[in-house]
Parts: sequence; structure tokens; C-alpha cells
Amino acid sequence: MLLRHTPKDSIERKALTINPAKTCQPIGAMYAALGIHGCLPHSHGSQGCCSYHRSTLTRHYKEPIMAATSSFTEGASVFGGQANLLQAITNIFEIYEPEIIAIHSTCLSETIGDDLNQIIQKASDDGKIPLGKHVIYANTPSYVGSHVTGYANMLKGIIRYFPEATEKKTDFINLISGWVEPSDMKEMKRLAKMMGAKTIMFPDTSDVVETSLDGDYKMYPKGGTTISELIASGNSKKSIGIGTWATKEAAIALENKCKVPFALTDVPIGLQATDRFIQAVAKAAEISIPDSITNERGKLVDVIADMHQYLYGKRVALWGDPDQLIPLVEFLVDLDMKPVYIVTGTPGKLFEQKMKEILSEKVPEAKYKAGEGADMFMMHQWIKNEPVDLLIGNTYGKYISRDENIPFLRMGFPILDRIGHSYFPTVGYMGGLRILEKILGLFMDKQDAESPETSFELVM
Ligand code: SF4
Repeated sequence: MLLRHTPKDSIERKALTINPAKTCQPIGAMYAALGIHGCLPHSHGSQGCCSYHRSTLTRHYKEPIMAATSSFTEGASVFGGQANLLQAITNIFEIYEPEIIAIHSTCLSETIGDDLNQIIQKASDDGKIPLGKHVIYANTPSYVGSHVTGYANMLKGIIRYFPEATEKKTDFINLISGWVEPSDMKEMKRLAKMMGAKTIMFPDTSDVVETSLDGDYKMYPKGGTTISELIASGNSKKSIGIGTWATKEAAIALENKCKVPFALTDVPIGLQATDRFIQAVAKAAEISIPDSITNERGKLVDVIADMHQYLYGKRVALWGDPDQLIPLVEFLVDLDMKPVYIVTGTPGKLFEQKMKEILSEKVPEAKYKAGEGADMFMMHQWIKNEPVDLLIGNTYGKYISRDENIPFLRMGFPILDRIGHSYFPTVGYMGGLRILEKILGLFMDKQDAESPETSFELVM
């Protein structure tokens, strides 16, 4: 059954989204907060919201994701949640002993109008925040934007609180990471290190949400950007925001606060976006690109050349976050594939502009949409009318994949039914190779399963 009720004929919908290609703001805020060492995210709202956010992250990472909640009941919902939050701050520092509490709001507390800044100030005035401990916050009303907006808002909360500028500038560069997997954050740090750049990455969820099983449970794993690194980021020579939607406002806020100039670059997915990332790091750190990087690039180019015949002209439908879709679509075009349908639930006019720039010449038939009404239902209708050869997106595409018998590459958030994303990057040249390997595997498996005996090939 599943999505077989999706009709082929579409009717105009103005006030209804069906299966949105996004999730809610606080999940992003929670994920960004996990990228600070010793931080406990706190959801200022009802237990239901917090359970949903935690369980989505837990299912995506297959790790227990910790967060606290203000546990609104009827009273807090009517009179406001200040008393709950003040009690929560006391309890959390006493029982769970984090270095930082990162509070985000929810639809409910935003609608009531709770002022997080004022409540935190009161907690501080009342002596509820122990010396040397920190409480930061972000407003994340989920009826605006998406999980990416929540991530961006928490980054601004981090900048508002930690970085400090002194007279003494350093030769570090800040890598402000967009929403990518911990494996991707590790890979970007590896590339920068190979180039000899000194970097501070924030947030950094590597070694936080994909920890090793050593028999000793740690509530605050060893990873995450430290407080001293966050403070020092105010003295860095430059910031690179990796992904416009997730990092632009944080980069601007850091420049305004500490006079650290910034450049924006795409999440380094695929050949060209990785080239731009490498060049951005080289320029910011004033260093040259070593042969080892060029060598990795060459391996990706070699596989593209070797396998081109399996990729040429293949039609692809994608959904996810703009910061990932833009470089991914560009990569597919570089592979001579045809990304024909692209949707993101995250709003922003820039997305459609970027799609036009990338696709208008090479894939003029492409359809794309961002924000309201850009949903999986619409994409399924497009596919029913003119099928595709490949789906790329989060787990929610598995219904379309099964119903239409289309190979499906899981990428983005959330991935609830496969593993690997935490450990194997899709950024950088090696990440590009992994994407290629996965796409080719899907096409070849389908060919092996469906080709008649007369054209069943041993060597491919
Ligand atoms: S959309 Fe709003 S009410 Fe629903 S889980 Fe997210 S924050 Fe809670």
C-alpha cells in the first residue's frame, strides 16, 4: 500500500503540505549544541517535543542522544515556563553536571512568549548558574523555517556568548560547519590539516554522536569544540562558513562581534565544491595546496572517467537541505547525469536561483521548489508522470523507492534505516568517491537483477 494512493494527476494546493521535505527547528538546535564539548541541550517546552527530537537524532545516529526538557504541563502552557526553566537549570547542574546548557525554545514556549534571555539572566542573578558554567540559548519557533534554521539559530547563540576579541590575533581560521555528519566534519578537518592550516571547527559533533563502545558510558564524550576554542575563535584571522543556510548569519555575527572577516563556501560535496573549499582554506590560511590533495582529486577524476558510461543521462530526483542539495546537484551535472526533480522544505529564494544557475543550460527540463508546498507528495507525482532512474534523499524516500522500483541512495537527515553516514564521509574528494561508488553499486545491482540472461555481464 504505502504511497500507492498518490495520484498521478496533480491539483493546485495552497494551504496543504503532504510529507514535508524538512523537519522541525529544535532538532537542528539540539544537533548544533551537541557539537560543543560538555554541553547538554535543553528543550524549553513539553516533553513530547523533546522526545521527538531526541528520538529522531538517536535513530539517525544509533547512539543515545541526551537532552533535558522544561516539561511543560497545563500550568506552564497558560502562565509561562519561567518557573520550570529555573528549576530545570538548578536540577541539571546538580545532577548531570554539564559545562554548558544550550536551551532552545519550541512552538509552545514561543507562542506563550517566554523570554529566554530574561529567564537566563534571572537564573544568573539568583545564583543558579555555578561559577565557570554557562547557559546559552536560541529561539527556535518551529512554525518558521526548518531544522536547518534551528541549527543556524543555535550557531548564532554560540557566537553571541563565547568568542572574545583581544589585541592578540592568531593565525587560526574558523571552520564554521554547516549541518553535515560527524564523519564529514572529521573529513574537512583532515583536509585542512593535510594542507597545514590551523583550524578551529565549530560545532564539531565528531566523537560525540558516533562514540566507541568501550564498556564505560560517558554522558559527555570526548569530542566537541571546547569552550577555550570557542572563546579563541574571536581572535582567528578568518572564518569560513561552510553552507550558506546554516552558517552565514553566524559568520556575520562573529565578524560584527570580533572583527573576524569571513568567506562563505558550499559544503564540499563533489568535485567543484571540494575545489572551492580547498581554495577557500588555502586563501584564508595563506598556504599552498599540497600534492597529496591534488592526488586525492585525481583519484576521483579517474573514477568519473572510468565509469561515465553507467552514469550518462541518468535521471535523478533529490530532496533534502539546500546546503547539501546545491553542491550535490552540481556534482551530478558534472557526472553528466540529469537531476530533474529537486525539492527542499527549507525556505529561501536563493535555492531556486542557484538551481537555475546550475541547471538551466544542461538540464533545462529540471523542476525544483523550496519552502512551502515543496514536499515529497509533489515529487512523487512528478515521478509518476515521468519516472527517474535514481532517488537521493533521506529515509522517507523508501516508500517511493519501493512503490516505483527505483534505486535509492540515502543521503541527508534523517537516515533511520541504514548505517554508515556517521562513519564514512560524503564530503571531500574521498567523499565524492563514496557517493560515486554507492550510485554505481545501485545501478549495477539493478542491472544484475533485471537483465535477461543474454546480457548478464560478469565484468562491468
Ligand atoms: S513542530 Fe513544534 S510542537 Fe512539533 S515537535 Fe517541533 S517544536 Fe514541538
